[in-house]
Amino acid sequence: MRSNRTNNLESFQGVNLDVNASWGLSLAVQQRLGELLSSHGLNPSSIHGQGQRARFLVEEARDAIRKLLNAPASAQVIFTSGATEANNLALLQPLLSGRTPSSYLTTAFEHPSVLEPLAFLSQRGWKGRRVKPSSEGTISPKQFVEEFSADNAIASLMLANNEIGSVLPVADVAKLIRSSNSSTLLHTDAVQALGKIELDFSALGVDMMAISGHKIGALSGIGALVVKEGVRIVPLLHGGPQEKHLRAGTENVLGIASFGIAAELVSQNLPGRIIEMERAARLIRSELSSGISDVHFWNNAPLQLPNTLSVHLPGINADDLVVALDLAGILVSSGSACASGKPDPSHVLLSLGIPESKARETIRISVGTQSSLEQYRLAAQSIIATVTRMRSRS
Ligand code: PLP
Repeated sequence: MRSNRTNNLESFQGVNLDVNASWGLSLAVQQRLGELLSSHGLNPSSIHGQGQRARFLVEEARDAIRKLLNAPASAQVIFTSGATEANNLALLQPLLSGRTPSSYLTTAFEHPSVLEPLAFLSQRGWKGRRVKPSSEGTISPKQFVEEFSADNAIASLMLANNEIGSVLPVADVAKLIRSSNSSTLLHTDAVQALGKIELDFSALGVDMMAISGHKIGALSGIGALVVKEGVRIVPLLHGGPQEKHLRAGTENVLGIASFGIAAELVSQNLPGRIIEMERAARLIRSELSSGISDVHFWNNAPLQLPNTLSVHLPGINADDLVVALDLAGILVSSGSACASGKPDPSHVLLSLGIPESKARETIRISVGTQSSLEQYRLAAQSIIATVTRMRSRS
């Protein structure tokens, strides 16, 4: 393994233990995109042959995504610039549809792309509640529904947490809320669940689900909001008639095609991928447990993503460790990638009741399927050596 820092224009050859930030382009996606890069005129609104080809690529990708989500043909897949836009489109619906301000419900450890649009509602007179997770990083259906009120215009609960990897009981929450006959819009951010657990859009019972391409091997800058049949969406962007008038702007054809190819690949072998991720995560956990004294894992929820470890390393500054490991060709993160560059400790860890000092000593390791078990073992050994060296210096 060698450093990627000295020449970051070369392709990365280390070990990506930060796939929750970005998976990296799958090889098959790279190959297919290579063919498309030299194409001209790929605008799905054009009536010429290349336009029709672009339309085909977009619809093929929409079908592949429905297939991966087990979503019926009646579910709308609205392509967006990423899950951040998809979350905004979903969560600003009460405002966009002109409802008089009432209230919303969410959790304290959502991604900022959920918390911030909801905070935007709060600034406009909406009352919001954020349910706190347990110290294990989960929220029971009962706990969520106890905070629920029939006048909540929207309720949002993530399917899997990006930092600690807990999987939340979205389907049970949806059942309880629906049984109260409420007209609340139910939303889930499924970004980290996609490609890591089996998903069934209909069985989840939500109205809207946000997903993102670069978390499963597609390009970044492409995502989608999946919407249940019959749920009316008011657009965020106005302009041309693209995406059935729900998202104006020429489609990101290459991004959409990459999302479709990546979704198809995941569909072909999700159980195998899950087993591979589980093996790698288990191996790294056991190596770190035997090689580092006092190491602790915050992953204690009953249902977990197969690939995510939140690792507390007493006495180690997580940001310093991220930089030191980068020099050894190993990517990890301290807090979520989207929050990096921001000095605040992770709001996710704090919401679990973890003290700030320990949050600052916590790194996230998230594995994919790109490296062999031996490479993951070597990466774990490298983490142990780096932590030992840093501890001996201080
Ligand atoms: N939601 C979660 C849980 C995430 O982890 C991320 C990105 O890390 C996003 C939303 C935002 O996705 P995108 O990068 O496509 O905007």
